[in-house]
Amino acid sequence: MPRKDSNEIYAGVDLGGTSMIAAVVTAKGRILASREASTEAVKGDWAAAVDQIADTIQKACRKARVRPATLSGVGVGAAGAVDIVKGVVVSAPNLGWSDAPVTRALSRKLGVDVHLDNDVHVALIGEHALGAARGAKNAVAIWVGTGIGGGILVDGRLHYGSRGSAGEIGHMVIQVDGPICGCGRRGCAESLSSRTAMERDVRALSEAGQRSAALRIMDEIGKTRMTSSVIQKAIDETDPIVLQVLARAQKAIGVLVSNLVNVLDPELVVIGGGIAERLGDLFVGPIRQFAYEGFIRQSDRETVRIVTSTLGDRAGALGAAFMARDRS
Ligand SMILES: [Zn+2]
Repeated sequence: MPRKDSNEIYAGVDLGGTSMIAAVVTAKGRILASREASTEAVKGDWAAAVDQIADTIQKACRKARVRPATLSGVGVGAAGAVDIVKGVVVSAPNLGWSDAPVTRALSRKLGVDVHLDNDVHVALIGEHALGAARGAKNAVAIWVGTGIGGGILVDGRLHYGSRGSAGEIGHMVIQVDGPICGCGRRGCAESLSSRTAMERDVRALSEAGQRSAALRIMDEIGKTRMTSSVIQKAIDETDPIVLQVLARAQKAIGVLVSNLVNVLDPELVVIGGGIAERLGDLFVGPIRQFAYEGFIRQSDRETVRIVTSTLGDRAGALGAAFMARDRS
């Protein structure tokens, strides 16, 4: 890792399907200011989204009293498949984009270098630098949200594979002939245990019998989606449908984790995303138990840590800033 002047300042952006966070960060990782914005209105229009990213960075800079032109680099982590060399978001179903040349457009707008990677890759960079994966050489990140994203750290570096597409952990098939996935195939981990999958299962069980408290809570607080806060409120009410669906999702993620541990032999698996951050070990604990059951080497129970991310929703923006620092 090249050492940078510690006075240099970077911006990092975590760009998700529902919202983005832009943070202004020192080379050592101190967040000077951050801003959030909804990405709902720019879904399907990457050019409008680039304007919004630039605007959000500028607002965060203003809050931090930093002139945007003096930034030493900008990093963007986008929810989707990314070509990091060309700086293009190749396919991002949750953002409604394909072949979006985000790096070039944003760099032209801000007049600074921009670097792009996948959102979970940058979250893993953040967790590796300052969070749950600090000091680890071999780690796996699994982020559960609208979909399931992943990142793999091998010998202290992100693993990209031969074409840059490694880490599609959410599309590992867990159940042959299982539910249809956003990728068009069946039975991927994402189709069984993303927040979207959990909502589908809660709705299906509610139609078949007693109505889930989660649906009532969504009505009450005016949400159209089963967010992590809705899931938590339903758990607080011991809603049997949500508890059943959650347990099924945790089992599928546990199987996913054991497959990854058996193949990659990491020291650590970090589980993140809104639901993991909100529920903590209530979410990760059962995943850990199911994962342990699937370990080929049962002695690894003692040594493989399966933990919740510790940087919360700042992991992505922080990691994106570090990516810009290390690639500038
Ligand atoms: Zn899939």
